Amino acid sequence: MSNATLKKIGVLTSGGDSPGMNTAVRAVVRACAYYQIKCVGIKMGYEGLIQNQMSELGARSVKHIINRGGTFLQTARSDEFRTKEGREKAYKHLKSNGLDALIVIGGDGSFTGANVFFKEFGIPFIGIPGTIDNDIFGTDFTIGYDTALNTVIEAIDRIRDSATSHNRIFFVEVMGRDAGFIALNSGIASGAQDILIPEKKDSLEGLFQSLEKSEQAGKNSSIIVVAEGEELGNAFELAKATEMRFPDYDVRVTVLGHIQRGGNPTCMDRVLASRLGVAGVEGLLEGRTNVMAGLRSNKVVYTPIEEAIKKHNEIDKELIKVAKILAV
Ligand code: ATP
Repeated sequence: MSNATLKKIGVLTSGGDSPGMNTAVRAVVRACAYYQIKCVGIKMGYEGLIQNQMSELGARSVKHIINRGGTFLQTARSDEFRTKEGREKAYKHLKSNGLDALIVIGGDGSFTGANVFFKEFGIPFIGIPGTIDNDIFGTDFTIGYDTALNTVIEAIDRIRDSATSHNRIFFVEVMGRDAGFIALNSGIASGAQDILIPEKKDSLEGLFQSLEKSEQAGKNSSIIVVAEGEELGNAFELAKATEMRFPDYDVRVTVLGHIQRGGNPTCMDRVLASRLGVAGVEGLLEGRTNVMAGLRSNKVVYTPIEEAIKKHNEIDKELIKVAKILAV
C-alpha cells in the first residue's frame, strides 16, 4: 500500500488493559493527523467492530490522556470475533466506515485475531504490544510493563516495612500467568530472598533452604516473590507448606492483583507507547502489514506477526544468578 491509498485507519485496544495504552492511542491519532490520514477509534476492541461502535478522532480528541492509565477506548475479550460470523460483521462495519487498515494494541491473542481477520478479508494491520507481562517476542519491552514493575516495587517496599517490624515472611504474588518477567525484575529490585517463576524449576526444598539460609545469615524477615504462573503452587499454597515446615515462622501472603494494571504510565512507558504509536502509522504508510512494531536495543523494529505470536522472550539467566547472589 502506498501513501496515497491509505486514507483512513482504525485503532483499537484489545485483551487485558495496560498502563500506556492511552498514550499509544494518542500517538496513533496524532501521527495520523500529522500524515493527514483519518483515524477512527474503535471501542472495546474487536467487540466495537462487531457492534459498529467507532468514531473519528482528531488530534485534539486525545488531549489530556498521555498520562492516564487504562484505555479510554476501553478493551474487551470478544468471543464473537473468534467466530466467522462475528468477523464477517466486523468486516462489514469496517468497510461501511471506510477503514483501510487497523492498528491493534494488545497482546498475542489480539494479534492472532488480527491475523485471522487479515487472512479472511485482507485487511492490513500492525500490532503494538500492550501488556504488562512483557511476554511478547519482537520487543524488549511491552507497553505497561515498566509501570507495573514500579507499582510492584512500591508495594513490596511497603510490605517490607511491615515484614521487618514483625519478623515476618511475606509471600507476594505478582501477575504473570505464563511469564516471570515481572516477578524476576521486581524481586531483584525489591531485594527478595527468593523468586519463584514458571521459567525455572523450583522446589519446596530449595525454597526452605533459602529461608533457612536467610535465618542463619541473621535476617529477621524475608520477601518471597511468586509469579502467578509458578508451577510449584500459588502464594497461599507455598505459605501453607512453609508454615508446616517451620511452625515458628510468622508467614503472610499478599496478592497484588489488579493494582498492577492501573496507574499513570511511567516515563519509559510513555516514550515507548509514543514511539510505537508513530511506528504503527508509519509502518502502514510504508506498506507494511502483519507485523508488530517493537523496540529492540532502543531501535524501532518490525517483527512478522507470526513470530511475535509464536516465539517467546527467554528469561535472562544472568538475572536469575544476580537474584541468587544478592540473597546471600
Ligand atoms: P493479554 O496478554 O492481556 O491476555 P491478549 O491480546 O493476548 O492480551 P486475548 O484475550 O488472548 O488477549 O485476545 C484478545 C481478543 O483477541 C480475544 O478476546 C478475541 O476477540 C481475539 N482473538 C484471540 N485469538 C483469536 C483467534 N484465534 N481468532 C479470532 N480472534 C481471536
